[in-house]
Amino acid sequence: MKHFKSHSAVIAALILTLAFAFACRTKKAKEEEAMPKLSLLPDIQQRLAKYSPTEIGFDASLLAGEDRQVLKKLVSAAQRIDEIFWKQSCPQGPALKKELEKSSGLEDKDALHFLRINFGPFDRQDENKPFIGTTPKPAGAGFYPPDLTKEEFAAWIAGHPDVKEEFESPFTVIKREGGKLVAIPYNVEYRDDLSPLARDLEEAAGLTSNPTLKKYLTGRAADLLNNDYYQSDCDWIDLKDNLVEIVIGPYEVYEDGLNGLKASYESYVYINDVAEMKKIRGYLDYLDEMQKNLPVKHQYKDQKVAGLASPLNVVFEVFTAGDAKAGIQTSAFVLPNDERVREKKGTKKVFLKNVMEAKFNKSLIPISERILTAEDRRLVSFAAYFNETVLHEICHALGPGSLSLPDGTRTTVNKALRDLYSPIEEAKADIVGLYNIPLLMKKGWIPADMENEAYTTYLAGIFRALRFGAAEAHGLGTLLQYNFLREKGAFLYDPQTMKFRVNFKSVKEAVKELARAFLMLEGNGDYAEVKQFIGRYGKMDEDTQRVISRLQDIPVDIEPIFTIKL
Ligand code: ZN
Repeated sequence: MKHFKSHSAVIAALILTLAFAFACRTKKAKEEEAMPKLSLLPDIQQRLAKYSPTEIGFDASLLAGEDRQVLKKLVSAAQRIDEIFWKQSCPQGPALKKELEKSSGLEDKDALHFLRINFGPFDRQDENKPFIGTTPKPAGAGFYPPDLTKEEFAAWIAGHPDVKEEFESPFTVIKREGGKLVAIPYNVEYRDDLSPLARDLEEAAGLTSNPTLKKYLTGRAADLLNNDYYQSDCDWIDLKDNLVEIVIGPYEVYEDGLNGLKASYESYVYINDVAEMKKIRGYLDYLDEMQKNLPVKHQYKDQKVAGLASPLNVVFEVFTAGDAKAGIQTSAFVLPNDERVREKKGTKKVFLKNVMEAKFNKSLIPISERILTAEDRRLVSFAAYFNETVLHEICHALGPGSLSLPDGTRTTVNKALRDLYSPIEEAKADIVGLYNIPLLMKKGWIPADMENEAYTTYLAGIFRALRFGAAEAHGLGTLLQYNFLREKGAFLYDPQTMKFRVNFKSVKEAVKELARAFLMLEGNGDYAEVKQFIGRYGKMDEDTQRVISRLQDIPVDIEPIFTIKL
């Protein structure tokens, strides 16, 4: 087979563990010869090179004695999440890992390294293609029996309406038991892992003198053991005046490719960056003014912004585990996901600043060196990148929220634009954020000499996003911005050197025009008009394709190496 080569004895043995169908321990050597060729993808090193190992540390002087003790307990709890996520992601993974750990072969070492990054022998950056063996990843990962289909799952519920709730719960696994399907609650299935973890959280609660953190940690420990997360989700939103913090438990459902129902365990341990958070609260004070400042008529900026009081945390990541650590690293998250908590308490946005900076250094800087002229790449800065990321999140709240259709009915932008909403909304948040930077400079929140940095950093960021393709919302949204601004002459390309630069004479006006275009597309809510806009600006020209193809060897992401010692 073209893409595979036969491999070492260890890998060979591993494939047997992986493909249950062949894992018969009593088989004799003669029969083993007849087994399928066992293989490792030959380009494992290139795949590994997409993740640049990077130390993720923090300034220990930020923490006094008590917080340092609490932090250690939280990391100890978080570490135990990995074991649970292995079971959810790839139940055979730990056995594979153990086998590979016995080998000293270089290729086995690479395979082990990549297995750890992906929490299984499937490349998360390549549609879960197996890199050890050929057995595909079951769509339902470890949440369901591997042979269960979507249809059988639905049919079982249709035939047994009383189990619907427990079967569709985010917090149960589905198993076969004597010809029947059953739902096992997470706190039963993973009890052996959860008990010591809850103990760590209780001990951390005993060490802290912050009453909100004490309440949250005690509650979270109990909730993890009773499989109901509502109250401690609320308590997480209510945390106040604490430095150290943890997110721990089952949250996102992306790992469940069968039904998108089952939540994966993950953990983030982090330290709040108090000074930076103060600054961002300053941005929020100007939200109303940013809304008024938008270059459109009143009808396109009717969204109420006063209510946006939900916390924005800027933090130093100290440790992650489980789903949060697998594959691509998160640079910001919004939790909790429980709609009841969202309604009562809102959400909390957390920006992982040191992770963003690591990604910036390992990926955005090399990209800018390759695609920008020498003068422009000197202007690319982390401060600008960070501001743009934060403003993107804030500016989702700006612009039109609802609109009147031609027949007079009121609807939301989201409902009017349906499947085209996400790319337009993501692009709007980007460009409205960039448009508002001069305003924040006037207010003294962003240094006044940073305007050109903002535009060049934004241009470099466009190429970072386009690398991931235009298939998903962020990628397509980025392509629309890029093509529009190029058409207006804001970005100039020299085919001789294959480098881009920002045209500082025209970029500001072009950004204003583009912000106006997206705000009106949203406010008009005309599906056909948006379709036409995407038709015009949603294609990638050959020059750009060529430039992007030259970025392939630049790491796509970091692999975090946590420096905290317990
Ligand atoms: Zn967004």
